[in-house]
Amino acid sequence: PPSSPILASPPDAPPGSPPPATPGLPFDGLPLSPAMLDTLRQLDYRAMTPIQAASLPLALAGHDLIAQAKTGSGKTAAFALPLLARLDVRKLAVQAMVLCPTRELADQVTQEIRRLARFEANIKVLALCGGTPMRPQRDSLEHGAHVVVGTPGRIMDHLERGSLVLEALNTLVLDEADRMLDMGFHDDIAFVASRCPSERQTLLFSATYPEGIARLAARFLREPQEVKLLEQH
Ligand code: ADP
Ligand code: MG
Repeated sequence: PPSSPILASPPDAPPGSPPPATPGLPFDGLPLSPAMLDTLRQLDYRAMTPIQAASLPLALAGHDLIAQAKTGSGKTAAFALPLLARLDVRKLAVQAMVLCPTRELADQVTQEIRRLARFEANIKVLALCGGTPMRPQRDSLEHGAHVVVGTPGRIMDHLERGSLVLEALNTLVLDEADRMLDMGFHDDIAFVASRCPSERQTLLFSATYPEGIARLAARFLREPQEVKLLEQH
């Protein structure tokens, strides 16, 4: 069954006609700045993907979110745009953090957030992953960052050493949460979340919805809205 209104046939279509090939909802209707909308046009993001159309209005309104959609559906922008929209670039402090299961995924998310952040020259997005030396990461953190993206273990390491401070954090994202649980990161996530201000938005993204995700959400999200897109062919 269609889980998002934009996947239904348009109202004036004859009964039984298939849903439109491209959902086609523009980003313009969202509460995003003209500069951000301009960046999206430059990146050739013409229309929202279904998961973006379903989650962006809720996330931009400040709701916590459990969003489930398959790989390649555009989940990164669904959390990156809300966290960037809320960011105060004049305040050089970590205001948003994204946890990812692997270094490769964290690097991809970092690149995508940097692309989407082009509307403003001075937004600093830092990747903090294991498998690379601590020292350069600590130096970068000392110089300041607005957004950090990393793996739970390394983020925890920085928190324990005091090189990462989350006092100014307003958005926590758990990306590929199902894979993070599979990889045994539950306790690390719990530790990291315990160091985040309780007054924050938490966005959980996952390709699947196993029992562990519901438990994780119950523990770290506040009255979350659920957005699930079933496989579309
Ligand atoms: P997921 O995290 O769901 O696997 P990604 O966020 O990595 O998916 O997005 C997959 C690809 O689609 C990326 O290359 C991204 O730049 C592109 N993309 C995302 N949203 C849009 C959009 N609205 N229009 C065009 N390309 C998009
Ligand atoms: Mg992703």
